[in-house]
Amino acid sequence: PAALMYHCRQPTIQDRNVSHIFPRHTKSNLPVVARGEGVYLYDQSGKAYFDGSGGAAVSCLGHGDTDVTEAIKTQLDSIAFAHTSFFTSDPAEQLADKLITHAPKGIDRVYLVSGGSEAMEAALKLARQYFVEIDQPQRRHIIARKQSYHGNTLGALATGGNEWRRAPFAPMLVETTHISPCFEYRGKRAEETTLDYGLRIANELETEIQRLGEDSVIAFVAEPVVGATAGAVPAVQGYLKRIREICDQYGVLLILDEVMCGMGRTGTLFASEQDDVVPDIVAIAKGLGAGYQPIGAMLCSAAIYKAIENGSGFFQHGHTYIGHPVASAAALAVLTKLTDGGLVERCAMMGDKLNDALQHAFGQHPNIGDIRGRGLFRALEFVEDRSTKTPFAPDRAVHKSLKKECFEAGLICYPMGGTIDGRSGDHILLAPPFIMEDAHIDEIVSKLQIAINRVL
Ligand code: PLP
Repeated sequence: PAALMYHCRQPTIQDRNVSHIFPRHTKSNLPVVARGEGVYLYDQSGKAYFDGSGGAAVSCLGHGDTDVTEAIKTQLDSIAFAHTSFFTSDPAEQLADKLITHAPKGIDRVYLVSGGSEAMEAALKLARQYFVEIDQPQRRHIIARKQSYHGNTLGALATGGNEWRRAPFAPMLVETTHISPCFEYRGKRAEETTLDYGLRIANELETEIQRLGEDSVIAFVAEPVVGATAGAVPAVQGYLKRIREICDQYGVLLILDEVMCGMGRTGTLFASEQDDVVPDIVAIAKGLGAGYQPIGAMLCSAAIYKAIENGSGFFQHGHTYIGHPVASAAALAVLTKLTDGGLVERCAMMGDKLNDALQHAFGQHPNIGDIRGRGLFRALEFVEDRSTKTPFAPDRAVHKSLKKECFEAGLICYPMGGTIDGRSGDHILLAPPFIMEDAHIDEIVSKLQIAINRVL
């Protein structure tokens, strides 16, 4: 009878008289998730939701993958936890080996953490310590980009490009400067080619390094394909190559944040492969654990590792759960499916199909200005006027209404109202599981259509 009751109504967190959860939004009224299977999540009323954003580009394998859950159970039966001050573990070693096998050439070491912000925090601290080790302690500046997100811990937050996120914490943040993002739809001038646009924007880095002082910059931080803040915006071809050149010229480290766009999401295991650029440090998370365990990683070049090895021999960092055996075992199972199981290629193939379907259904919509992305990392940008690219007024909160209507229709998508030159912009991000089938593309399009018709 108790089970039957669960199916009769849709309990929400506000049905509970007392909740001790500190939620994201105190006024939210969320259904309780009951289970997940394949590309669907189910709430306690039995309603199905197509997980069109994989949470926030996390669930690349969908839900209930028994290869991963079995790997977790097996690991739990041998050893759940041993502190990395005393032991290394087989799953952590194997995971690091496999990541390096597939990482861009030159990347040599893996530092395992528990999520994306931790990966970015480790990246920033390693970059700074590297310069201390090689006797360039005067380097202290970080350069990042507007319209970016790198996490919510203080270091990562400082590098993020949305001023509204940083503002309340400004006195607590490391000084970071922000140059323009590479955002073709918003930034390219009518008279310039895409290539020239990319070079012009990349050259802002050189100007900023010169402004701050040629030997005073630690690192430049960027997402190769910008995730939530701008909606699946890939850098134009040539941009990251020019960035790499500038970094090399001034001895600045290139930190790529692939927390959202990495682990196959854009159709290659690392997004930067498509830009033919090797970073000095790269951060990954989300798809690494695919939601089965909280895990992230910071990967760095052999040169950086050597500097620590030949110097103090100790990266002055660390958390209790780094290299967690169960999280590592889960990630190893995920990575095996992505690489040996052909799921990265499948993501590229399904991504092309999804893009075709979105272009076909919405390419001429008067309120959709841009449909963009790579692989199964796609976004639609909504505008008041397609010909002038004028955004909707912020108080219309179009992205929020779209999220709500999609959710009603049984589609989870990830909305965001970005800030474009001080004006509001609305987009929704799609990042479905790589296991999706052709029929699911129709389901995404038809549910989006319902939501768009209701909102616009
Ligand atoms: N970097 C990027 C690009 C992200 O999208 C995110 C999370 O959305 C983070 C870093 C932070 O990751 P986490 O939320 O796991 O701390």
